[in-house]
Amino acid sequence: MSANPFVAIQIGPNSFLEEGTDNVLDILQERGAVNALLLASHSFCYGTAGRAQYRFPDHGAQEPDHMQGGSFIHNRPQYYAKTSIRDFRAPDRDSGGIDIMDEVVPKATSRGMKVYAWINESPFDLVSKHVPGYIHCLEEDMWGRKAWPGCFNNPDFKGLHLGVVEEHVKHYDLAGVALISERRGPLGNVLNLAHNSRNGMHPTCFCQYCRAIARERGINVDRAKAGYVALSEFIAKAAKKERPVDGYFVEFWRILLNYPEILSWEKLWTDGQLQLYKDIYGTVKAIDPKKEAGFHIVHVHSFSPLYRAIIDFSELKRYADWLKPVLYHNCAGVRFQNYVRDLCGGVFGDSTPDKVYRMYYDFLGYEEAPLEELHKTGFSADYVYRETKRSVAAVNDEIPIYPGIDVDIPPGRPPAPENKRSTPDDVGDAVKAAFRGGARGVVISRKYSEMFLDNLSACGDAVRSLR
Ligand SMILES: [Zn+2]
Repeated sequence: MSANPFVAIQIGPNSFLEEGTDNVLDILQERGAVNALLLASHSFCYGTAGRAQYRFPDHGAQEPDHMQGGSFIHNRPQYYAKTSIRDFRAPDRDSGGIDIMDEVVPKATSRGMKVYAWINESPFDLVSKHVPGYIHCLEEDMWGRKAWPGCFNNPDFKGLHLGVVEEHVKHYDLAGVALISERRGPLGNVLNLAHNSRNGMHPTCFCQYCRAIARERGINVDRAKAGYVALSEFIAKAAKKERPVDGYFVEFWRILLNYPEILSWEKLWTDGQLQLYKDIYGTVKAIDPKKEAGFHIVHVHSFSPLYRAIIDFSELKRYADWLKPVLYHNCAGVRFQNYVRDLCGGVFGDSTPDKVYRMYYDFLGYEEAPLEELHKTGFSADYVYRETKRSVAAVNDEIPIYPGIDVDIPPGRPPAPENKRSTPDDVGDAVKAAFRGGARGVVISRKYSEMFLDNLSACGDAVRSLR
């Protein structure tokens, strides 16, 4: 480990507004040994901005804030000529009426801290509720209905996010930008339909722009739609325990054979997402090659062999300055439990969660507590070590891996009382495991406003103990 490794923390604008910028920076440096901020200057999402949702820690405001979110900088219209979406500023109630980068960047950089714009494209949130015209960039499902998230291939969606990146890179003394895009393609959504339906995530996108790309690739649009209808009907029946005559897995495989367009569309969707990553990387470099573009990799990458296959780090390294794989060990317990149980409500309906769990451990290379205990134990620091090591090998150590470390992330929505909570010991162990696995830094996650200060101190203590 280097003498001064990258130690970033994710933080929302509200923390600086409510607790005072210099006070917060003092706490981050002294307790967490933090030297970089991922400042959520564009977010509609409680995963990155706003107060804690279920339990307030020992600092900051102690009541819900009912955040709307949006942009926390004073946007300049010249960057948004390529999108019809213009009015996305967070309301003054959330932003304090100020530009958060103007407030924080000079104070942080004067202390030698790096600042990144932490940009959340917020697919789980009802952005359309707040932003005029956002409905025109939404994805469409196979029935032609609008979905909640924006489409990566829609020019308005792309124009908005590239405008946000360009504006941040040009106007503030930043180290770079980092994107969080927590969604996956239509096949992944349909296989975890029970979970994703709760989040409004359906198989997408079949909008005019995606259909045009499909035609260029020679993919039959109607066959792809029909395939996803068949898959969705299969999953819906499986949820009602209506077992196909030949079994769940055989039926799933038969649908794939009958509609190979299902896989083609999964690839088309993912290529659209990754094209945005490439465009962001290129935009940053075209303005200032010294500035960085980093990417958050959603938790399911370490749960799903299918998602792991399609998001290939050995390709991502070509257009990322660093990757932050989510290795949230504590909340992984309850998240993985739910994930496996979901699978057994569909494709793996012939088996049981406990057996599928063992098989997935073999696929993924984990050794954790029994399935029925996971919500009470979380995953171990060994998970952080193994996943860090794999990630470093996957990028051939050519770009830094900065694992996301779980500090008081809610273990469930809402968390059950018996679910495992972060402790200083396990937080410290996770940080040490990340560096033992070859990480060149860590990202303390997922936002300062939900972290207890002793757990933050455990991160700093672990980093200092390794120097
Ligand atoms: Zn589309």
